[in-house]
Amino acid sequence: DLAQIGVTGLAVMGRNLARNLARNGYAVAVHNRSYERTRRLVDEFGHEGTFVPSESMADFVASLARPRAVIIMVKAGGPTDAVIDELVPLLEPGDMIVDAGNAHFADTRRREQALRAHNLHFVGTGVSGGEEGALLGPSIMPGGSPESYRTLGPMFEKIAAVVDGTPCCVHIGPDGAGHFVKMVHNGIEYADMQLIAEAYDLLRAGIGATPAQIADIFRTWNTGDLESFLIEITADVLGHVDAETGQAFVDIVLDQAEQKGTGRWTVQSALDLGVPITGIAEATFARSLSGHAEQRAAAREAFPSTSGGLTVQDRDQFIEDVRLALYASKIVAYAQGFDHIEAGSAEFGWNIDRGAVSTIWRGGCIIRARFLNRIREAYDENPSLKSLMVAPYFAEAVNAGVPSWRRVVVAAAQAGIPTPAFSSSLAYFDGLRAERLPAALIQGLRDNFGAHTYRRTDRDGTFHTQWAGDKKEYSA
Ligand code: NDP
Repeated sequence: DLAQIGVTGLAVMGRNLARNLARNGYAVAVHNRSYERTRRLVDEFGHEGTFVPSESMADFVASLARPRAVIIMVKAGGPTDAVIDELVPLLEPGDMIVDAGNAHFADTRRREQALRAHNLHFVGTGVSGGEEGALLGPSIMPGGSPESYRTLGPMFEKIAAVVDGTPCCVHIGPDGAGHFVKMVHNGIEYADMQLIAEAYDLLRAGIGATPAQIADIFRTWNTGDLESFLIEITADVLGHVDAETGQAFVDIVLDQAEQKGTGRWTVQSALDLGVPITGIAEATFARSLSGHAEQRAAAREAFPSTSGGLTVQDRDQFIEDVRLALYASKIVAYAQGFDHIEAGSAEFGWNIDRGAVSTIWRGGCIIRARFLNRIREAYDENPSLKSLMVAPYFAEAVNAGVPSWRRVVVAAAQAGIPTPAFSSSLAYFDGLRAERLPAALIQGLRDNFGAHTYRRTDRDGTFHTQWAGDKKEYSA
């Protein structure tokens, strides 16, 4: 019997995706460059469903029903191209290649275009949820043609996470749209984690709470507006004790974070599109900073004891301030991420439905959170919302948090506790709502040194002042 779908690339992600498909009743063709992984999958998990293993790519393709659907789950980059090149001569018009790895959306656009010339569907698909999500139900963000989604959609929706009866999978849009949205998801994940880390630092370095106490604080926070997977696992990580030393686990981990790619890609793309995603950018740079060990050592020597802790009158009030600042900053990070999606959608003609994106991020993925229901409601109410921050629910939440947010940022600055994401989010908020921005002065300077011209507040047109001469204004 022919398999309904195939997976090539059977490391943790591919193996678990294949198992998820098989457990949901699909006959799954499985293949890996080296046969060992394929054999192990069938040996260990063959009883879970119908697997059709092949050693060669040709046999793998031959084991699939038509139109064929092949999921590639290999290391992103060159390996993906290598597997595509191997597959293409074996496939026929109408067949579908799904790249479920973490590809850059520009690569996906390039591959989609190339394969379209062969009458093949190339479906760049974002998958979030890590190893466990792939097995038990990830959030799935497929791009590619609507036609391919008609075949793939039902299978993907079957294996995706489900929240309130709705699968966490929707056709995002053509070509690279799915990988773009996955990229922004990861960017938001960076911001979310940085904000959590700053909150922890404020409680730890600021008021001297122990990791165990902070774990309890996060556990409490997880029962309110902040309820989310990341807050939940923060409590787990902070509560964990290193078996070897008996110390808090967080104290024995080297404080140098990695930024493997998607955070960087998000920031690069935002710069190209001119979208201020300051929270995500600060989060990415904060990881870079943490990794500059030698510079940090030199700076510690030159500027000793930067953090003196805080003198806090009301400890509980401070903890509540941090919670509200975290929530307001998180709203900013998501507002910026959804702006980024809107900008990408406009630039590449994807017509992405932001409400649908928030719906499929409610479960399966790393940023899953109660709060995404609110985002969905906001876009349901107004699909062309100018900023998530101005939707009634979020505007109210931000307004309620502003005094706390300011107190926390001031306290952090005074105590020398770095809070780049809290602070820049507040600056973004104040920038966005300012009556007048000093951009007027910037324009004046640009006109002065480079004759870049400016517009006036009181009449239409473009103007230039003769700065070096009589300082008369001319219509440009
Ligand atoms: P890896 O990224 O570690 O990739 C290993 C797999 O790629 C193996 O099957 C390997 O085959 C195969 N491979 C590497 N080079 C080649 C090549 N030149 N030709 C053919 N096959 C090759 O696996 P993961 O399961 O961690 O991730 C798979 C994809 O999913 C990646 O794109 C990753 O970014 C993405 N992803 C990962 C998540 C995670 O939590 N890990 C979450 C979401 C997405 P072999 O066994 O023969 O070496």
